[in-house]
Amino acid sequence: MLTSPQNSSAPEMSSSPSAPSLGLSDRLAQNLSDVKQRISAAALRYGRDPRSITLLAVSKQQSMEAISSVAAYGQRDFGENYLQEAIPKTTALSDPAIVWHFIGQLQSNKTRPVAEHFQWVHTIDRLKIAERLNEQRSEKDAPLNVCIQVKLADEVGKGGVPSAEVAGFATAISAMPRLRLRGIMCIPPPRESFDEQLVFFREARVLYEDLKTNGFTVDTLSMGMSADLEAAIAAGATVVRVGAAIFGERKSA
Ligand SMILES: *Cc1c(COP(=O)(O)O)cnc(C)c1O
Repeated sequence: MLTSPQNSSAPEMSSSPSAPSLGLSDRLAQNLSDVKQRISAAALRYGRDPRSITLLAVSKQQSMEAISSVAAYGQRDFGENYLQEAIPKTTALSDPAIVWHFIGQLQSNKTRPVAEHFQWVHTIDRLKIAERLNEQRSEKDAPLNVCIQVKLADEVGKGGVPSAEVAGFATAISAMPRLRLRGIMCIPPPRESFDEQLVFFREARVLYEDLKTNGFTVDTLSMGMSADLEAAIAAGATVVRVGAAIFGERKSA
């Protein structure tokens, strides 16, 4: 059940000047509830415990008002793609209960703010980036949780580690004391049908299971977005990254 941060059924506006407008807040509460329902339904359908799947709310291009509203409904994990807009958000919403995930492409000269402001990075696909994050992660903070972004079949010219290189990459990251390898992440090309979506997600699942077989202690398979989270859950996703279905369509996808 959702717990409302304010009496959202009251017709009058809240007296708090910073309170989000009721319209926006109500819509977000409904969307969040619908997404959780989709996750639970998919989990049950594929014989999984809904609690084994974490919802990561992707808040790129969203206002602080919208993000605060979703956080007030109990959402803990937020994902951002663009550093410039993300840093002010992580600073403004520095509630220790909130966990910030970086899910965008990382440039090696911009790793420091990521090491300083985020608890997770899902998009590690170059060792140079991992090395820099390892150097820059403060001893005062817990090690940075990282996932290896994998390149699946047919994904030419995109980010991601080719499947044949994942094990070697994982070995290198495991030797970095300020990073903690958590698992695998992928962004498959969009496909209309469930079966086509499943093909990619199953490929990522195999890479994830291979890591476990090779002795790596991993617990995170980050895959599935608004349009394909059911197929991702069917294939074993432990984190789904959902933007539009929570916050509404973005201006440019
Ligand atoms: C934008 C984005 C998402 C969320 O996509 P939606 O279609 O809005 O759910 C998930 N993962 C990554 C890496 C993204 O860039």
